[in-house]
Formats: sequence, structure tokens, C-alpha cells
Amino acid sequence: PGPQEAFDPSKKTLVILGSGWGSTSLLKSLDTDDYNVIVISPRNYFLFTPLLPSVATGTLEPRSIMQPTRYITRHKKRRVAVYEAEAQDVDPVNKTVTFQDTSEIKGEGASTTIPYDYLVYAVGAETQTFNIPGVKEYGCFMKEMKDAEKFRERMLDCVESASNPNSEEEVDRLMHMVVVGGGPTGVELSGELHDFLEEDLKNWYPELAPKLRITLIEALPNVLPMFTRELIQYTESTFKENKINVMVRTMVKEVKPKVVVVENEKKEHVEIPYGLLVWAAGNVGRKITRDLMAKLPADQNNRRGISVDDHLQMKGASGVFAIGDCTATSYAPTAQVASQQGTYLARVLQQLAKKERLEQQLQTLRQENAEPEAIEATVKQINKASKIKPFHYSHQGSLAYIGSDKAIADLPFFNGNFASGGVATFLFWRSAYVSTLFSLRNRTLVLNDWLKVKLFGRDVSRD
Ligand code: FAD
Ligand code: NAD
Repeated sequence: PGPQEAFDPSKKTLVILGSGWGSTSLLKSLDTDDYNVIVISPRNYFLFTPLLPSVATGTLEPRSIMQPTRYITRHKKRRVAVYEAEAQDVDPVNKTVTFQDTSEIKGEGASTTIPYDYLVYAVGAETQTFNIPGVKEYGCFMKEMKDAEKFRERMLDCVESASNPNSEEEVDRLMHMVVVGGGPTGVELSGELHDFLEEDLKNWYPELAPKLRITLIEALPNVLPMFTRELIQYTESTFKENKINVMVRTMVKEVKPKVVVVENEKKEHVEIPYGLLVWAAGNVGRKITRDLMAKLPADQNNRRGISVDDHLQMKGASGVFAIGDCTATSYAPTAQVASQQGTYLARVLQQLAKKERLEQQLQTLRQENAEPEAIEATVKQINKASKIKPFHYSHQGSLAYIGSDKAIADLPFFNGNFASGGVATFLFWRSAYVSTLFSLRNRTLVLNDWLKVKLFGRDVSRD
């Protein structure tokens, strides 16, 4: 399918599923001369997830953290086919992928099956709801751009509705923003919400601002379990100063249209009224991933995701590599891990292509009864190319924004951990993000948004 000039029958076909952290970093480093490359993703852009909570509260504009996948592929040596479509099935035995254009407007090829020689499986994960009733119906998520946009829309809706004539009780409900999940997503979002209150709500809606309450609900005894004790305490005390109510050892049991039901430490069920509820309770595998794993029951039985070997090859599926949040490894499901895995796979795929070229060369040499020295030298090169180093993750540290121009950083310096929090860390956080934002275009857009908010405040108009 698609324009055929990209296809070279002498090259193997590499299909990449997804356009997130894993796939994008692979594409950036991949030598497309080696393969016929096809990218399939329902999103035709890369999303810079670390700054998504900033979009949710209107600090950044959506497009500033989105980068079209073609921005990368168009600079490649050979044409890369990019299909905006959802992979629906992977057949690891016949080595095919079936995908469908799920957008509103479809051409003739709505559902297509293509063969692959190598497949890079990087479809990420969904937000875990544990099938808790009401989460999907009444809550917001914070995973995709549409989630951040929905959040912003609802947040402003709550504030505008609270400005209408209402009982005091109803105003209190509408102005109560509840964040479920004290992982980094929930913490960063709570911090951003607090900034919106301090920097904008007080100016735009002075009579309502004192009514805004932010509650962070976490089932475990503390927030941010992956950070050091010191940074957890720093975050909790900053939240206390900022009047963000942190409810730990509290488990959400049900979400109703206007109240959330929680179970507290004493196992009592309590109803808490809310205007907006955002659900950030971690990851779960996608349906397509579960389906693929179910086809390989002998090798794939980890409930957390796809099992891979040291070279990121999916166990039991020849030619399939899996990276990022869809896998179950000893690493946390982070952008840092997925992007290092993508870069690593680019090298592996280059080495595999080299090995194949050498094997063809060897065949030709043998057919032509070449000198034994020439054959031996090629065999040596093949042996060298066959030695593929296992994936090694290098942790660059964890950073999280906690609001009021403060951030926390857990950095692996000097063979030990260097923990820091505060305004200097915040500046480091900003510069670290700006420098890792993929393109000059995105960097410019983000800096411009930050400046705009500093000068004029966040825009509270809505459609
Ligand atoms: P993703 O980046 O999620 O990409 C998956 C891709 O697959 C997407 O393009 C998706 O559209 C596509 N896809 C989905 N279904 C299909 C299908 N059926 N067929 C084809 N394609 C499909 N990590 C950090 O290290 N630092 C941070 O500061 C940080 N902040 C975060 C903030 C937020 C709000 C969130 C939600 C996450 C954050 N993370 C952070 C985690 C990080 O975003 C993920 O670990 C990372 O995105 C994983 O990369 P991935 O390539 O596996 O998946
Ligand atoms: P998470 O899994 O890190 O945290 C989810 C939290 O929700 C857990 O602490 C869990 O105990 C809690 N929870 C689950 N069910 C609950 C319930 N019913 N009631 C109350 N609490 C409940 O999820 P996340 O924050 O979305 O992060 C996902 C991944 O993305 C992690 O690996 C994280 O490190 C990464 N990430 C990193 C950053 C960063 O580095 N700044 C930012 C965001 C996300």
C-alpha cells in the first residue's frame, strides 16, 4: 500500500508501531538506507509528555509540545512511509501487521495487512483504572493531548459555573479539584494547578480564588515513592505551604458524577464532593498488547507487559523488538528509558543490516570461488557484526515540577545520589526540558509561551 517508490525489494521491511518516545528516538537515529521503513501510529505527531500538565493549566499551548512525525522522517536519506492508523493485530507467526485508519475520513484502504521482516513494537500504555466504577465516565486522564485539552476546558467550566448564582455549598464543590494518584503525573499537575490559582485565578476571579481547593489522593503512605525520603518531605511541605491537601493512605473506590468515594485508613468510606477529577493512577497495557501476548502464552505471561531479552527482542516472536511502556522490564516506564531503548535499537538494526550485507557478499565470494583470504576476512566481519551488545540503561536522574517555581531533582552524580529542590532546581528543570525538546521550532514555541504567560497571564477564554 501507499506510494511505492519507497519500497526496495532488495531491502528488508521494518515496521515501527507508535510515534511516542521510543519510536521517535529510534527514527531520529535510524539509518533509513538499510530498510524499507513504515511507521504506523494513530497520532501523526510526537508528544513531549513531561510538559503535558503545563498544557492542561494553560501555561503552554498544545502545539508547542507536539512535533509532526514527518518533521523527522522528511529529513531522512530514504523516504519513510508514515501511516496515520491504528495497528489492530500483530501476527507473530506469519509476521504481519493489520492496521486501520480510524479517523473520520477514510480512503479505500481502511483496513490493510502488511508483512514485516522486523517489527518495532512501541505502542506505549493506557491509564490504569482498575475498573473502578465511574472513572472513565466522570474523570479526566492526563496521558494524551486530548486529555490535557479536556482538563483545561473542564477546569475553566468549573470556575465559570461557580461564578454563576449558586449556593455556597455548590460553589465549594465546583471549586474543588481532585487529583487521584500521587505519582509524578499527579504531583506535577497539582503543582501546575496551584500556579494557575496563584498567578491567574486571583486576578481574573478575585472573589472565587479563595474558594479553590486542590486535593491529591494517594493510596500509599506517601507521594512520589520513586524519589528519596528528603525530596518526598520537601514536596509534601511545599504542598502544605501551597494549601494543596494531600490525603495519603486513601484509596478511591468509586467516582460518581459529583462525589468521589474514598476508603480511608480506618476502612471507612467517605464521599468527597468535587468539580473536576483527574485520574493519574499509573499504566496498564493496551488491548493490542494483551492480544499479542495471548498468542505466545509460553513466553509472554507477565501481567505488567511484554517480556523482552537483553537485546529488547520480544520473547517467542522472531523479528519483533518491544520498547517503552508496553514492556515489563526492571526499568520504570519513563521517557528516559524508552528513548534510550529507541536509540539502542537504531544501532542494533544497523548492525543487523550490515551482517546481512556481509552474508550476501560471502555468498557471492563463494559462488565466484574467491581467494580463501577474502572469504576468511568476510567471515570474521560477519562474526564481529553478529556480536550485538545488550541494552544498557544509563539513568540521568529524575526531575519533577512541584509548583510555585520549585522543582525536585534526584540526580545520580559522583557515584551517589544528589538530591535537590527549590528555585534553582526549577531553573535547571526548565533548561533541561528546553534542551531536550526535540526541535528548535518546539524550543522556540515553549520559550515564547513561558514569556507570554509571564507578561500577560494565562488565557481563560474558552469555546
Ligand atoms: P508513548 O510515548 O506513549 O508512545 C506510544 C505511541 O504508540 C503513541 O504515538 C501512540 O499514539 C501509539 N499507539 C497507540 N496505540 C497504537 C496502535 N494500536 N498502533 C500503533 N500505534 C499506537 N517520563 C520521563 O522520563 N520524564 C518525565 O518527566 C515524564 N513526564 C510524564 C508526564 C506525563 C503527563 C505522562 C503521561 C508521562 C510522563 N513520562 C515521563 C512518562 C513517558 O511519557 C512515557 O514513559 C513514555 O511516553 C513512553 O514512551 P513509549 O514510546 O513507550 O510510549
Ligand atoms: P504512577 O504509577 O507513578 O503513580 C500512580 C499512583 O496512583 C501510585 O502511587 C498509586 O499508589 C496511586 N493509586 C493507584 N490507584 C489508586 C486509587 N484507587 N486511589 C488512590 N491512589 C491510587 O503513575 P504516573 O504518575 O502516571 O507515572 C507513570 C510513569 O510515568 C512512571 O514511571 C513515572 O515515573 C513516569 N512519569 C515521570 C515523570 C517525571 O519524571 N517527572 C512525570 C510523569 C510521569
